[in-house]
Amino acid sequence: MLRFGCFVFAALALFSNQAAAQATISHCLAAPQFASHLTVALDSMNLSEVEAISSTIAQHCASTKSPDIDVIADAATLFTFIHRRSNRDSAQQSFNRLLQKDFSPLSRQQQAAYYHLMALYSLHTGEYKQALSISHIISTELLPAALSATDDMAAINLAVADIHYEIEFYQSVRELLLPLLTHPVLYVRVRAASVLWHIPQTQRQLEDTLAVLGDYSALPQTLVKLHALEALIRQALEENNQPAAQVLLEEAYLLAKALDAKAMLIRLYLLETENPPSPHATAQLLAFSAKQFSLKEQLPVLKLEVERATASQNWQQATATLQQAVALNQELARNNALAREYAGFQMVSQARELEQARQQSRLQALAAEQQNQQRLIYLLALVSAILALAVLTLLFVKKRKAAVHFEKLANTDGLTQVLNRRAIQLFAKQVADRSKPLGQPFVVALADIDHFKTINDTYGHDAGDIVLTEFARRTNALIRQQDRLGRWGGEEWLIIMTNTRLDAVDGLFTRMQEEIREISTGEHKLTVTFSMGAVAGNGEQTVEALVQAADELLYQAKHSGRNRLCKGRD
Ligand code: GH3
Ligand code: MG
Ligand code: MG
Repeated sequence: MLRFGCFVFAALALFSNQAAAQATISHCLAAPQFASHLTVALDSMNLSEVEAISSTIAQHCASTKSPDIDVIADAATLFTFIHRRSNRDSAQQSFNRLLQKDFSPLSRQQQAAYYHLMALYSLHTGEYKQALSISHIISTELLPAALSATDDMAAINLAVADIHYEIEFYQSVRELLLPLLTHPVLYVRVRAASVLWHIPQTQRQLEDTLAVLGDYSALPQTLVKLHALEALIRQALEENNQPAAQVLLEEAYLLAKALDAKAMLIRLYLLETENPPSPHATAQLLAFSAKQFSLKEQLPVLKLEVERATASQNWQQATATLQQAVALNQELARNNALAREYAGFQMVSQARELEQARQQSRLQALAAEQQNQQRLIYLLALVSAILALAVLTLLFVKKRKAAVHFEKLANTDGLTQVLNRRAIQLFAKQVADRSKPLGQPFVVALADIDHFKTINDTYGHDAGDIVLTEFARRTNALIRQQDRLGRWGGEEWLIIMTNTRLDAVDGLFTRMQEEIREISTGEHKLTVTFSMGAVAGNGEQTVEALVQAADELLYQAKHSGRNRLCKGRD
């Protein structure tokens, strides 16, 4: 609300006449309100407004004066002195008081405004070191905090640029002011342009500067407008456009007189005397006491004095003034060089700090990015590893399944799904190998379906297949888990009974006879018998020899009437 009020007031001050502005502040405001008004007035270089505030405080608010109000009054006094050359003594007192104040509780714009005034005052009184110490405070204490606030930044940059302009540190002035040429606030743009015009710049920069200055007429009657006019007059004179320069000069004189801006009046007189010299201007200028001006402003005055003394052939006076001018010039040059060096050092150290901070944050960002990347890489690696593991497991399981499948296929008889010849032979070998060390006897039995050829011939091959399949399934169901049945050939079967004496084969044979006796092919019920030869093994004989012996006993069974078992020796 206070800020809003301040802007309303500023708008009033800028766009209405001085009387209206004066009326607005004629009653006593609180210190913060006065301070806001003053900041706006200082920012827009509104001399009349500053003076109005100053006189209101002095006349009407004397009874309610507070330390805060004193600061505002002192700042107003300094500003008035810098631009009007009035009250030199009270300006010095104001400056001394301000030097002892702690501005830190104030807003950044107010701090910048006060420091700016103090630095300018120091420059005007030749206290260059003091000016630069103050500008150092602006740069180190205000600038970093204001980096994110564009309004504060504009005010601070203008303040520092003013100081650097005075010591002819033009590189810095360009850096500070060129960005302000596009600032949304007109008086900020014009103020930046009016300073920029005076320093060396490229053709392009000059064109931009002149384009901004061209809008000067839209400004209220303030010093900003006067400075813009001054720059435009110099431009017209440089272009030898006398008529334009004359029109602008007239306007500038009127405004400078209205504002009672003495320093500016002198500058305008000097402009005129440069081209062409005018006795009237010289007389006017010399009417001022040279001591009232800043060192910089005294030089052209001394130059005029020399010219006047020379013209009147007062050689002694001319020589003395010339010597004074030379000494002053040397002092100015020395001061400027020292100050530029100091300011340059400040800028360099500031730039270095900024760069360090930027690098720090860049490094931090990089570290964070690396960390993220690392995390991502770990995550990707983890995911890849899991995926690879899953794929490998899948492949392994598949391969394993396939291997098992192939093994089964390789070992199984396709029709009956019992072990094939190779597999039952291998099993027999393993049993035979284990038999001796374990002392476990085993039985090798060879069975052959009787007259199977007739079954095939009578009921067909498919019926024969059913008989084979059923023989295998039923026999397989009868034998123990540790025993095996294999298809030895067409309708011949090898049975290996582990850890078994030969006697046990009788029971198996009988149970098999019972199970197999009747096999249905769907259409027919077939009576099926088989013959069997069985021998006992103990690991002494080869499997081939045992099978051979079993085959011989099978042959015996066939020839002794079939459907019977012939056993060897136990
Ligand atoms: P024996 O009682 O003397 O053993 O007479 P057999 O007819 O059973 O004897 P043989 O060995 O002469 O006949 C076996 C027949 O089995 C010959 C062959 O055609 C048949 N055979 C062999 N393999 C298969 C098969 O996979 N399916 C069918 N349906 N018949 C087969
Ligand atoms: Mg047979
Ligand atoms: Mg046979």
